[in-house]
Amino acid sequence: MSPSWKALHGHLPVTIDPIQLAERGARLTGTLPVKSMSRLASTCLDGSGDVLVDLIFERGEGEDVLIMHGSLRANLRVTCQRCLEGMALELEAMPWFILLRPGARRDSIEAEPDTLIVDKPLSLISLAEDELLLALPMVPMHEASRCPAGRYIAAAEVNKMHSSKMRKQSQSPFSILSKLRKSR
Ligand SMILES: [Zn+2]
Repeated sequence: MSPSWKALHGHLPVTIDPIQLAERGARLTGTLPVKSMSRLASTCLDGSGDVLVDLIFERGEGEDVLIMHGSLRANLRVTCQRCLEGMALELEAMPWFILLRPGARRDSIEAEPDTLIVDKPLSLISLAEDELLLALPMVPMHEASRCPAGRYIAAAEVNKMHSSKMRKQSQSPFSILSKLRKSR
C-alpha cells in the first residue's frame, strides 16, 4: 500500500459497528474509491474518483435511540440516456437510520421506516454503495438545454409546430376563400 493511498483512505475502517460508534458519538469522514464499489462502478463510464463519506453516529431523541446519518457524495461519469454521450453526474445520498440490535424493542418507533438492524459488523463500502445506488437516477440525462439530443428534439418540435401551422393555414376556409377571391 503506497503512503498516499494510506493517507487518503487509511482512517476509514473496512467494517463498522454502527451501534458501538453511536454509543460513543463517533463521526467518520474520509474517502472511498469508486473502484471499490463494483456495482456502482459498473453503472459508470469509468471507475475513477472517490466517494466522500461523512457519517455521524449519535444518540437521537428518546431513550436508547441511536441513529446514523450524514452524506455520501461522488462525482461520476455516466452515459446520458437521451444522447448516449458521457456526462458528469453529481450523486449525493443522505442516509438516515435508526440503529437496532436484532430483537430490540421497537414498538415506540414502529412507524419509522428507516431502521438498520445491526447483527454483525457491517462493511462500510457495501453500506455506502447501497445508499448511493438508491440515490442513482433511474434514467440519467443531461439537462435538456445542454443535451445534444435535446437540441435536436427541440428543433424537431419547432419544425413540427411550424408544419402543423402551415397545414392549418392551408386548410382554413378563409385561405380557400381568399384563393377564390384572387381567382375571380
Ligand atoms: Zn445527453
